Amino acid sequence: MADAVRNLLTTAQVCRILGVTPHEVYRLATEGYLEVKNFIRYKHGDLPLFSGDQVESVRRQMPKILRRWEGEESARKGAQAAWTRLKRWRSCYYTRLRKEKFLQALEEFPEKTSLLLRASYYLYHLNHYAKAGESYLYDLKEKVLAVMAAKFDSEDGLKIFFVPGPPRIRLCSECRRRARREKKSYLEYANLTGGCSHCQKDEDYYSLYEFVVEGGEHRFCFHSPAQVARKWLKGRQVPEKEGYEREGGYPFGRRIYPGEAAAINLAEVVDELEEFLRVAEEL
Ligand SMILES: [Zn+2]
Ligand SMILES: [Zn+2]
Repeated sequence: MADAVRNLLTTAQVCRILGVTPHEVYRLATEGYLEVKNFIRYKHGDLPLFSGDQVESVRRQMPKILRRWEGEESARKGAQAAWTRLKRWRSCYYTRLRKEKFLQALEEFPEKTSLLLRASYYLYHLNHYAKAGESYLYDLKEKVLAVMAAKFDSEDGLKIFFVPGPPRIRLCSECRRRARREKKSYLEYANLTGGCSHCQKDEDYYSLYEFVVEGGEHRFCFHSPAQVARKWLKGRQVPEKEGYEREGGYPFGRRIYPGEAAAINLAEVVDELEEFLRVAEEL
Protein backbone atom coordinates (compact mmCIF):
# COMPACT_ATOMS: atom_id res chain seq x y z
CA MET A 1 0.00 0.00 0.00
CA ALA A 2 2.71 2.45 1.01
CA ASP A 3 4.44 1.77 -2.32
CA ALA A 4 1.29 2.71 -4.21
CA VAL A 5 1.10 6.14 -2.58
CA ARG A 6 4.80 6.86 -2.64
CA ASN A 7 6.20 8.27 -5.86
CA LEU A 8 2.87 9.81 -6.88
CA LEU A 9 2.89 13.31 -8.33
CA THR A 10 0.36 16.15 -8.35
CA THR A 11 -0.65 18.04 -11.50
CA ALA A 12 1.58 20.95 -10.47
CA GLN A 13 4.58 18.64 -10.07
CA VAL A 14 3.89 16.99 -13.41
CA CYS A 15 3.68 20.47 -15.01
CA ARG A 16 7.07 21.33 -13.59
CA ILE A 17 8.78 18.10 -14.65
CA LEU A 18 7.34 18.06 -18.17
CA GLY A 19 7.25 21.83 -18.71
CA VAL A 20 3.58 21.75 -19.73
CA THR A 21 0.36 23.48 -18.62
CA PRO A 22 -2.33 21.79 -16.47
CA HIS A 23 -4.48 21.61 -19.59
CA GLU A 24 -1.72 19.69 -21.37
CA VAL A 25 -1.46 17.28 -18.43
CA TYR A 26 -5.13 16.44 -19.02
CA ARG A 27 -4.45 16.10 -22.72
CA LEU A 28 -1.65 13.63 -21.93
CA ALA A 29 -4.07 11.74 -19.71
CA THR A 30 -6.84 11.65 -22.33
CA GLU A 31 -4.36 10.53 -25.00
CA GLY A 32 -3.35 7.64 -22.78
CA TYR A 33 0.19 8.73 -21.86
CA LEU A 34 -0.62 9.28 -18.20
CA GLU A 35 -3.01 7.47 -15.93
CA VAL A 36 -4.61 8.95 -12.85
CA LYS A 37 -3.35 6.57 -10.14
CA ASN A 38 -5.14 8.01 -7.13
CA PHE A 39 -6.90 11.08 -5.75
CA ILE A 40 -6.37 13.24 -2.72
CA ARG A 41 -9.77 14.42 -1.55
CA TYR A 42 -9.95 18.10 -0.68
CA LYS A 43 -12.93 20.09 0.41
CA HIS A 44 -13.03 21.83 -2.97
CA GLY A 45 -12.39 18.90 -5.27
CA ASP A 46 -10.17 15.98 -6.04
CA LEU A 47 -6.49 16.38 -6.72
CA PRO A 48 -5.42 13.71 -9.23
CA LEU A 49 -2.11 11.91 -8.67
CA PHE A 50 0.11 10.49 -11.38
CA SER A 51 2.78 7.82 -11.25
CA GLY A 52 6.32 9.19 -11.09
CA ASP A 53 7.64 6.33 -13.23
CA GLN A 54 5.07 7.03 -15.93
CA VAL A 55 5.86 10.76 -15.88
CA GLU A 56 9.55 9.93 -16.25
CA SER A 57 8.89 7.80 -19.33
CA VAL A 58 6.61 10.49 -20.81
CA ARG A 59 9.35 13.05 -20.16
CA ARG A 60 11.62 11.17 -22.55
CA GLN A 61 8.87 11.08 -25.21
CA MET A 62 7.89 14.74 -24.71
CA PRO A 63 9.79 16.24 -27.68
CA LYS A 64 8.09 13.72 -29.98
CA ILE A 65 4.65 14.38 -28.45
CA LEU A 66 5.06 18.15 -28.74
CA ARG A 67 6.07 17.82 -32.40
CA ARG A 68 2.97 15.74 -33.06
CA TRP A 69 0.72 18.24 -31.26
CA GLU A 70 2.20 21.09 -33.28
CA GLY A 71 1.82 19.08 -36.48
CA GLU A 72 -1.83 18.37 -35.74
CA GLU A 73 -2.50 21.99 -34.93
CA SER A 74 -0.86 23.37 -38.04
CA ALA A 75 -2.52 20.76 -40.25
CA ARG A 76 -5.84 21.86 -38.80
CA LYS A 77 -5.36 25.56 -39.07
CA GLY A 78 -2.51 26.03 -41.51
CA ALA A 79 -0.94 29.44 -41.62
CA GLN A 80 -3.42 30.80 -39.14
CA ALA A 81 -2.07 28.45 -36.47
CA ALA A 82 1.47 29.68 -37.02
CA TRP A 83 0.26 33.25 -36.69
CA THR A 84 -1.73 32.45 -33.55
CA ARG A 85 1.33 30.74 -32.09
CA LEU A 86 3.49 33.76 -32.82
CA LYS A 87 0.95 36.06 -31.18
CA ARG A 88 0.78 33.75 -28.17
CA TRP A 89 4.57 33.78 -27.82
CA ARG A 90 4.61 37.57 -28.04
CA SER A 91 1.87 37.91 -25.47
CA CYS A 92 3.71 35.44 -23.20
CA TYR A 93 6.86 37.47 -23.59
CA TYR A 94 5.20 40.80 -22.73
CA THR A 95 3.37 39.25 -19.80
CA ARG A 96 6.72 38.06 -18.43
CA LEU A 97 8.18 41.55 -18.88
CA ARG A 98 5.24 43.09 -17.03
CA LYS A 99 5.68 40.55 -14.25
CA GLU A 100 9.38 41.42 -13.87
CA LYS A 101 8.52 45.11 -13.83
CA PHE A 102 5.86 44.57 -11.17
CA LEU A 103 8.10 42.46 -8.91
CA GLN A 104 10.86 45.06 -9.24
CA ALA A 105 8.48 47.89 -8.35
CA LEU A 106 7.70 46.11 -5.07
CA GLU A 107 11.18 46.96 -3.77
CA GLU A 108 9.93 50.52 -3.23
CA PHE A 109 7.38 49.43 -0.62
CA PRO A 110 7.81 48.67 3.08
CA GLU A 111 8.66 44.99 3.59
CA LYS A 112 5.24 43.79 4.72
CA THR A 113 3.39 45.65 1.97
CA SER A 114 5.79 44.27 -0.60
CA LEU A 115 5.23 40.74 0.70
CA LEU A 116 1.47 41.22 0.64
CA LEU A 117 1.43 42.59 -2.92
CA ARG A 118 3.67 39.82 -4.20
CA ALA A 119 1.47 37.13 -2.63
CA SER A 120 -1.63 38.87 -4.04
CA TYR A 121 -0.15 38.83 -7.53
CA TYR A 122 0.40 35.06 -7.35
CA LEU A 123 -2.91 34.50 -5.59
CA TYR A 124 -4.63 36.22 -8.53
CA HIS A 125 -3.05 33.65 -10.84
CA LEU A 126 -3.88 30.76 -8.52
CA ASN A 127 -7.49 31.90 -8.53
CA HIS A 128 -7.39 31.99 -12.30
CA TYR A 129 -6.23 28.35 -12.50
CA ALA A 130 -8.75 27.33 -9.83
CA LYS A 131 -11.62 28.88 -11.82
CA ALA A 132 -10.34 27.17 -14.97
CA GLY A 133 -11.03 23.79 -13.35
CA GLU A 134 -8.12 23.12 -10.96
CA SER A 135 -10.58 23.41 -8.09
CA TYR A 136 -8.34 21.75 -5.48
CA LEU A 137 -6.30 24.97 -5.60
CA TYR A 138 -9.03 26.72 -3.60
CA ASP A 139 -7.61 25.01 -0.50
CA LEU A 140 -4.31 26.85 -0.99
CA LYS A 141 -6.22 30.08 -1.67
CA GLU A 142 -7.97 29.71 1.69
CA LYS A 143 -4.67 29.13 3.50
CA VAL A 144 -3.17 32.25 1.93
CA LEU A 145 -6.18 34.44 2.77
CA ALA A 146 -6.24 33.07 6.34
CA VAL A 147 -2.57 34.00 6.83
CA MET A 148 -3.16 37.44 5.30
CA ALA A 149 -6.02 38.02 7.75
CA ALA A 150 -3.88 36.88 10.68
CA LYS A 151 -0.66 38.76 9.90
CA PHE A 152 -1.55 41.89 7.92
CA ASP A 153 -3.76 44.92 8.47
CA SER A 154 -4.79 48.14 6.77
CA GLU A 155 -1.41 49.77 7.47
CA ASP A 156 0.17 47.06 5.32
CA GLY A 157 -2.43 47.59 2.60
CA LEU A 158 -5.04 44.94 3.44
CA LYS A 159 -8.68 45.86 3.99
CA ILE A 160 -11.35 43.26 4.69
CA PHE A 161 -15.08 43.87 4.33
CA PHE A 162 -18.13 41.82 5.14
CA VAL A 163 -20.67 41.76 2.30
CA PRO A 164 -23.97 40.34 3.59
CA GLY A 165 -26.00 38.09 1.33
CA PRO A 166 -29.24 36.15 1.75
CA PRO A 167 -29.47 32.76 3.49
CA ARG A 168 -29.93 29.57 1.49
CA ILE A 169 -33.42 28.23 2.04
CA ARG A 170 -34.34 24.54 1.98
CA LEU A 171 -38.11 24.43 1.64
CA CYS A 172 -40.14 22.29 4.03
CA SER A 173 -42.43 19.65 2.51
CA GLU A 174 -45.45 21.96 2.86
CA CYS A 175 -43.72 24.77 0.94
CA ARG A 176 -42.43 22.33 -1.69
CA ARG A 177 -46.01 21.21 -2.26
CA ARG A 178 -47.14 24.84 -2.62
CA ALA A 179 -44.31 25.53 -5.08
CA ARG A 180 -45.37 22.59 -7.24
CA ARG A 181 -49.00 23.69 -7.10
CA GLU A 182 -47.96 27.17 -8.28
CA LYS A 183 -45.75 25.60 -10.97
CA LYS A 184 -42.63 27.29 -9.64
CA SER A 185 -39.21 25.76 -9.14
CA TYR A 186 -38.18 25.38 -5.47
CA LEU A 187 -35.51 28.01 -5.92
CA GLU A 188 -37.93 30.46 -7.48
CA TYR A 189 -40.46 29.85 -4.71
CA ALA A 190 -37.82 30.26 -2.00
CA ASN A 191 -36.59 33.54 -3.49
CA LEU A 192 -40.12 34.85 -3.87
CA THR A 193 -41.48 33.95 -0.43
CA GLY A 194 -38.39 33.51 1.75
CA GLY A 195 -39.93 30.21 2.92
CA CYS A 196 -41.85 29.79 6.20
CA SER A 197 -40.77 29.17 9.79
CA HIS A 198 -40.55 25.40 9.15
CA CYS A 199 -38.13 25.75 6.26
CA GLN A 200 -34.43 25.27 6.94
CA LYS A 201 -32.40 28.44 6.63
CA ASP A 202 -28.67 28.36 6.10
CA GLU A 203 -27.76 31.87 7.31
CA ASP A 204 -24.95 33.70 5.54
CA TYR A 205 -24.76 31.09 2.80
CA TYR A 206 -24.44 33.82 0.16
CA SER A 207 -22.51 36.30 2.33
CA LEU A 208 -18.83 36.81 1.69
CA TYR A 209 -15.69 38.53 2.89
CA GLU A 210 -13.94 40.77 0.44
CA PHE A 211 -10.17 41.12 0.72
CA VAL A 212 -8.80 44.26 -0.93
CA VAL A 213 -5.03 44.67 -1.19
CA GLU A 214 -3.72 48.06 -2.26
CA GLY A 215 -0.27 49.57 -2.55
CA GLY A 216 0.50 52.58 -4.74
CA GLU A 217 -1.22 52.03 -8.07
CA HIS A 218 -1.51 48.26 -7.56
CA ARG A 219 -4.77 46.71 -6.49
CA PHE A 220 -6.15 43.18 -5.96
CA CYS A 221 -9.53 41.88 -4.85
CA PHE A 222 -10.42 38.40 -3.57
CA HIS A 223 -13.52 36.81 -2.10
CA SER A 224 -14.03 34.11 0.46
CA PRO A 225 -17.40 32.65 1.52
CA ALA A 226 -18.48 34.05 4.91
CA GLN A 227 -18.94 30.59 6.39
CA VAL A 228 -15.30 29.77 5.60
CA ALA A 229 -13.54 33.05 6.45
CA ARG A 230 -15.48 33.83 9.63
CA LYS A 231 -13.25 31.62 11.75
CA TRP A 232 -10.07 33.43 10.68
CA LEU A 233 -11.53 36.83 11.44
CA LYS A 234 -12.48 36.37 15.09
CA GLY A 235 -11.52 39.47 17.05
CA ARG A 236 -10.85 41.55 13.96
CA GLN A 237 -12.96 44.64 13.23
CA VAL A 238 -14.53 44.03 9.84
CA PRO A 239 -16.71 46.82 8.41
CA GLU A 240 -19.83 45.88 6.49
CA LYS A 241 -20.25 46.86 2.86
CA GLU A 242 -23.17 46.81 0.40
CA GLY A 243 -22.42 44.86 -2.76
CA TYR A 244 -19.03 43.68 -3.89
CA GLU A 245 -16.54 44.30 -6.67
CA ARG A 246 -15.38 41.44 -8.88
CA GLU A 247 -12.29 39.47 -7.97
CA GLY A 248 -9.37 40.75 -10.01
CA GLY A 249 -5.76 41.85 -10.26
CA TYR A 250 -4.67 45.35 -11.31
CA PRO A 251 -0.88 45.74 -11.18
CA PHE A 252 -0.06 49.33 -12.23
CA GLY A 253 -3.81 49.93 -12.28
CA ARG A 254 -4.24 47.74 -15.35
CA ARG A 255 -6.38 44.59 -15.33
CA ILE A 256 -4.66 41.24 -15.94
CA TYR A 257 -6.63 39.55 -18.71
CA PRO A 258 -7.44 35.83 -18.51
CA GLY A 259 -5.27 35.09 -21.56
CA GLU A 260 -2.26 36.66 -19.85
CA ALA A 261 -2.87 34.89 -16.57
CA ALA A 262 -2.02 31.51 -18.10
CA ALA A 263 1.44 32.80 -19.09
CA ILE A 264 2.53 32.49 -15.45
CA ASN A 265 3.31 28.84 -14.83
CA LEU A 266 1.16 27.01 -12.26
CA ALA A 267 4.20 25.43 -10.57
CA GLU A 268 5.73 28.89 -10.05
CA VAL A 269 2.44 30.15 -8.60
CA VAL A 270 2.19 27.26 -6.12
CA ASP A 271 5.89 27.57 -5.10
CA GLU A 272 5.57 31.31 -4.51
CA LEU A 273 2.46 30.99 -2.36
CA GLU A 274 3.92 28.17 -0.29
CA GLU A 275 6.99 30.35 0.26
CA PHE A 276 4.69 33.20 1.32
CA LEU A 277 3.02 30.94 3.89
CA ARG A 278 6.42 29.99 5.33
CA VAL A 279 7.69 33.59 5.52
CA ALA A 280 4.42 35.04 6.85
CA GLU A 281 4.18 32.45 9.64
CA GLU A 282 7.38 33.94 11.10
CA LEU A 283 6.08 37.51 11.16
ZN1 LIG B 1 -44.69 25.98 7.23
ZN1 LIG C 1 -41.80 26.03 4.61
